[in-house]
Amino acid sequence: MRYSSCVCSSRRQFLQQLALGGALLGTWKMAEASRAALVLPRERPIVVCLDPGHGGHDPGAVGLRGTREKDVVLDVGLILAQHLRRTPGVQVLMTRQSDQYVPLLSRMHLGTQRRADLFISIHADAFPDPDVRGSTVWALSAKGASNAAARWLAKSQNSADPILSKWSTGRQDPLLNEVLINMTQTAAMNAAAAAADVMIRGLAGVEGLHNAAVQHANFVVLRAPDVPSMLVETAFISNPQEEQRLRDPEFRQTLARSMHDAIVAHFVKAPPTDSCWSAANHVLGHHETLKEVARRYGLSVQALRLANNLAQGEEPTGTHLRVPIMGA
Ligand SMILES: [Zn+2]
Repeated sequence: MRYSSCVCSSRRQFLQQLALGGALLGTWKMAEASRAALVLPRERPIVVCLDPGHGGHDPGAVGLRGTREKDVVLDVGLILAQHLRRTPGVQVLMTRQSDQYVPLLSRMHLGTQRRADLFISIHADAFPDPDVRGSTVWALSAKGASNAAARWLAKSQNSADPILSKWSTGRQDPLLNEVLINMTQTAAMNAAAAAADVMIRGLAGVEGLHNAAVQHANFVVLRAPDVPSMLVETAFISNPQEEQRLRDPEFRQTLARSMHDAIVAHFVKAPPTDSCWSAANHVLGHHETLKEVARRYGLSVQALRLANNLAQGEEPTGTHLRVPIMGA
C-alpha cells in the first residue's frame, strides 16, 4: 500500500526524534547537579494546554461496559500533565482537572488568554460498528480556519484583543488587523500540523491508527487563531477490546507517556523562538572543544552531539552549533 513505506520511514524519523528528546532529557537531568553553572535563560517556558473532553453532565461516549469517555480522558490528561510538569521548561494548563463541565468556548479561550504554545484536546472515539478501532488526530480544517478568523475579526477590532495586542499596533485599522490575524493563524496552523504529525506517529506505536494521516474538521476547541491546536481521539470506546484497554490504568499510562514523548519531540525539533527551549547558536571558537561548550550551557557533550547530529571527535573552528537551552 502506498503509505505503508512512508509510515515506516516517518516512524524511523519519529523514533530518532524521540531518541533525541529522551536522550536530551536524560542528559539534562544528569546535568541538574551542575545547575549552578547553567546559563539560565530569561526566556519564558513552553506552555501546553491540556483539554480532557466532556465532564460533569456530559459523559461523552459510553462503552458497552459502561466506561465513560469523560473519566478515561480526564485520567490520561492528568497523567500527561504530571509528565509535562516534570519536564524542565514546560508550564501546563488544564481546562479541567475534575469531573466538571467546561463550555467549549471557555476551553478554547483558556489557550488564547494564557498564550499556549500547544492546545491538545483529549477524547475517546465512538462508532456504531464495534470493530472500528485505532487513534485519530484532528486539526482545524481550512474552512474552519477562515470562519474562525472572520468571527474573531468581527469581535475584536481593537488593540485590547489578545491576538492583536501582541502586535502592539494600537491602531483601529480593520485591514491591518485582518492581515495580522491571518498571519498569526497561518503560523499557528503550520505549527499544529507539525505537532499533529509527530503525535500521530507516536500514537501509531501504541494503539494503531484509525486514520494514518491527520484529519481536519471545524471543532470549536480547535478554532483559536493564535494557538496551535489538535484533538486526539485516543481509541474507540465503542470497540470492546479498546474499551477494555481504556479501562486499564497501565494502558492510560502508556498513552500519556507516548503523548508526552511526542510533545517533547515536537518542541525539541521546533521550539517557540522566544521560549527557553529555543536553541542558541554558538560558533565554535579557536581550539574550543565540545566539552567546553557543553559545560558553558549546562549540557552533556552527548546532548550537544545529539542536537547537532555530530559524530565522535571534535569539530572545526567556526562550526555553527545548535545549543538547546532549558531551565525556566
Ligand atoms: Zn469526545
